[in-house]
Parts: sequence; C-alpha cells; structure tokens
Amino acid sequence: MTIPVDHPRYHSLCVRESLAKAMQDGIVAPEGLCAHGRGEAFDYLLGEVTIPSAKKAEQCAAALLRVAKHPVISVNGNTAVLSAPDIAWLQKATGAMVEVGLFHRTEERIRMITDLLTACGVVVLQGEAERLLPLSHDRAFCLRNGIYEADLVLVPLEDGDRAQALIELGKEVITIDLNPLSRTSRSATLPIIDEVTRAMPAIASYAASMTVDEAVSILSAMPQQSWFLQAALDTISQRLSHVLD
Ligand code: ATP
Ligand code: MG
Repeated sequence: MTIPVDHPRYHSLCVRESLAKAMQDGIVAPEGLCAHGRGEAFDYLLGEVTIPSAKKAEQCAAALLRVAKHPVISVNGNTAVLSAPDIAWLQKATGAMVEVGLFHRTEERIRMITDLLTACGVVVLQGEAERLLPLSHDRAFCLRNGIYEADLVLVPLEDGDRAQALIELGKEVITIDLNPLSRTSRSATLPIIDEVTRAMPAIASYAASMTVDEAVSILSAMPQQSWFLQAALDTISQRLSHVLD
C-alpha cells in the first residue's frame, strides 16, 4: 500500500504498515499488533506528543544509563522494528548491552530480530539463554552476562510480570509504555509514558551530550516514580474534561 504523505495520520499509518509487514515476516508476533493498538489508544489520550513529564523522564533515563555499571536494553520484536537505528545510537552513547527478550520466544524470531538490529549497527549480546528470572513461561529466559547481571534494565513495551520480576531481583528498571495504568509502568523505577519512536531518540540525544557529572546532578533531583504516573494521568484527565466542555 502507498500511504499518501498528506494523510493526517501518515506517521501512524506508516508505523502500522511496518509492523504488519514485520508480522508477515515473522519478526513481530501477532499479539504484538494488539499491544501496539493498546499503545495507540493511550497515545490519542495523551495528544500524540511527548508531554513535559515524559521529557523529564527521558532526561532522567539518559542520566541513569550514563551512571549505571552494567546497563542492558531489552529489545522485543515491536521495539526492534520501530527503533533499531535509535537503539544503535543509544548503545553508542551509553555503552549499554543490547539483549533480545521475547514474550513469544522462538530461536527463529530471536535470530531474525538479532539480524535486523545488527543491520542497523547494534551490537547484540548473544549466548545460551537460561531460565534465570523468577517467572513461569519462557519469559524466564535471559542471558546470565546480560539482563541477569545488569544493575539497570531499559525495557520498552515490556509485560508487567517481567518488569516486576526484574525489580524483585534488585535491578533499576526503566520502562517505555504509553499506558500509565499498566503494571509495567506502575512497577518501574522510572516509567517513561511516551511513544517508543519519540522516547528512544530523545534518550539517546540526551545521553550523547551528557557528562557523568551532569547525570549525577540530574539524578539528585529526579522525581519519584509516582510523579511521572500522576503527570500522565493528569494530562489525560485534563484533555478528557476539556473535550467534554
Ligand atoms: P501490564 O503491563 O499491565 O502487565 P501488558 O504488558 O500485559 O500489561 P501489553 O498490551 O502486552 O500489556 O503491553 C503492551 C504495552 O506496550 C501497552 O501498555 C502499550 O501501551 C505499550 N505500547 C505498545 N506500543 C507502544 C509504543 N509504540 N510506544 C510505547 N508504548 C507502547
Ligand atoms: Mg505492560
């Protein structure tokens, strides 16, 4: 399909088309399209922009990544399709490892996602995944020298159980999830309530120009987790009441 560039939803339609194609290719799970739709709904409610509190969260995320000893970015199919070049940029800016983490895990999908990321310049951590996270289901798999040993994990579009399991293992967890009510956002150390194609380049850009001293100073004034959630909920409720006025 050729999407007309003057269509008011051009960007959104291009994203849908790329995810649909990636699903046909087997990179994105069919369930990934449902997850994207849930994200789109929340993006409408937020006004399809990066709200000021999310911008602040992206700056804090860059700071956390800059000072972490062993940061890891966990990448699933949707995130790889939507953000591979930005993940390469963020990896260069922070030295973070990149590990493929899948809910619907098959060796074939891991290989395809690894190839996609590698083609965009990401160095992907590889090895024999083990059942190391306290979870039932294949979500328990991760790499010992990757997510398992990380002190900080960035998990875009993660499922809530896995984010909680990482917190229980004592890690700091940054999430990117448009739904401020999701268990993912509510269990994160730092929830970024923003669309991944806006959030990822913003974090990378902050990290690329931030010194460690600046990072420490930003973190000394980092708001609590609940502030980021409340700010997103306030934005949504103000927009809803405004529309109804
Ligand atoms: P919970 O976190 O409550 O356990 P879940 O993780 O099982 O819920 P899913 O629908 O599987 O729920 O997770 C997908 C999440 O990713 C949704 O909350 C959705 O808002 C978010 N999401 C999907 N696409 C994007 C995107 N492009 N950018 C940011 N967030 C997105
Ligand atoms: Mg979730």
